[in-house]
Amino acid sequence: FKVPTPVNEPINSYAPGTKERTLLKEAIAEARSKKLDIPMFIGGQEIHTKNKKEVVVPHDHQHVLATFSYGDKSHVKQAIDAALAAKADWEALAWEHRAAIFMKAADLIATKYRYQINAATMLGQSKNAYQAEIDSACELIDFLRFNVSYMQDIYGQQPPVSPNGMWNRTEQRPLEGFVFALTPFNFTAIAGNLPSSVAMMGNVVVWKPADTQVYAANVIMQIFREAGLPDGVINLIFADGPEVGDVIFNHADFAGIHFTGSTKVFQEIWKTIGTNIHKYKSYPRIVGETGGKDFILVHPSAQIKAASTAIVRGAFEYQGQKCSAASRVYIAESVWPEIKEQILTDLASFKMGGTEDFSNFINAVIDERSFDKLAKYIDQAKKDKGVEIIAGGNYDKSKGYFIEPTVLVVDDPKYTTMCEELFGPVLSVYVYPDQEFDQILELIDTTSPYALTGAILSQDRYAIEKASYALRNSAGNFYINDKCTGAVVGQQPFGGARGSGTNDKAGAMINLLRWVSPRTIKETF
Ligand code: GLU
Repeated sequence: FKVPTPVNEPINSYAPGTKERTLLKEAIAEARSKKLDIPMFIGGQEIHTKNKKEVVVPHDHQHVLATFSYGDKSHVKQAIDAALAAKADWEALAWEHRAAIFMKAADLIATKYRYQINAATMLGQSKNAYQAEIDSACELIDFLRFNVSYMQDIYGQQPPVSPNGMWNRTEQRPLEGFVFALTPFNFTAIAGNLPSSVAMMGNVVVWKPADTQVYAANVIMQIFREAGLPDGVINLIFADGPEVGDVIFNHADFAGIHFTGSTKVFQEIWKTIGTNIHKYKSYPRIVGETGGKDFILVHPSAQIKAASTAIVRGAFEYQGQKCSAASRVYIAESVWPEIKEQILTDLASFKMGGTEDFSNFINAVIDERSFDKLAKYIDQAKKDKGVEIIAGGNYDKSKGYFIEPTVLVVDDPKYTTMCEELFGPVLSVYVYPDQEFDQILELIDTTSPYALTGAILSQDRYAIEKASYALRNSAGNFYINDKCTGAVVGQQPFGGARGSGTNDKAGAMINLLRWVSPRTIKETF
């Protein structure tokens, strides 16, 4: 038997007057009206502690959405023990029964929890309805369904050659030990994908989400449990990162990490793992998607509307808080005046405010730390010579962490905001002389240590070919005549190299292969 061939989950528009819009609004109202007390989940048990932290709504930070129980080192140890205790039964379970659990989880999101998971993302992470639908509900459903089909393909791979007199075979074993999943605030789908893709392959997991993602993580955990995930297979903990790391990375059974987050944290983790390497039974799998300084290159032949839409959407969807967001744009001088006008027109039509009003395109950034960091960059840009702020530049944290979509035009292509990852709605533009296209390619490739996403807008096939080759190492996801965000599971496997990660492509078979350790068996007749 075979699992169903996956198709991408259809996306709701939540247009005015639709039933879906009403249901989503009801889910938001319900989430707002009750203050949850969120426990950790270890070995199937809800764990409450006295140390409570708050989840606040980023666009209305006086509103406490929930409290959650914060753990300490003892809870991390408990989570590891629970995972290891669950391991033997879980890895012995036939793959199709593991598949059924995650297929059911996808089904539950599609049919029962869709509005709840979107509402959680809209309130807990200040992501608007349409982005929440794409990046939480639909993408998580897709991750689960496509991964199940890749899992089937992995177990069904062509066996090695067997000459007469023998039978050679390869067995896909789970890793020996437990895997740690560390998930970011910006994508609910990633929060669900990192632990589930590992667990699917027969592994047991300790999962720690960012503190700013606890609210949605709790919904995901409930869904996994309702789908029948056995106790201890995925253990959800909330605790201070370094404390968690101290227990996890010193444990002999640490078998791997599935990470999405900052480059700095990932590099620290890698170093710690290196230092402790002699303590582990196996070389741990290190899989991470980290920062980006994603670019859009506009050639003189680009179509104006296509280019400005790619820029505005690539830079400002979800307030620029996608690892894939466009944050440096290189535009040919001859097309800049028209593109600039179109960008300013588009930005003028964007409303900013809370996610409960579906007409707001721009919402708040995730928290005060992020707000303060972005405000600092904007203040510095206001002072620096050679920088012109052509849009935005204002910010206000009195009610929520609001930063206007801001566009800086810089004289120097190596100005700080062209090189450093800001992770917010601040876009830098460098206008280049048309005849310097080749130099710009070189500049894009060498300006930042990252290589996650990039795009070229051009109608000139020679220019497209040249850029595609010159920038072959500058982005793991390269878009021709499109924005650089919004990779779809099963269509554009996602991930970057250099400072952006190990490029083990989320939503692809290559990623699942990292979570098995094959055994080759030769039997002689
Ligand atoms: N996969 C997302 C995209 O293509 C980005 C994921 C991330 O920000 O980590 O936009």
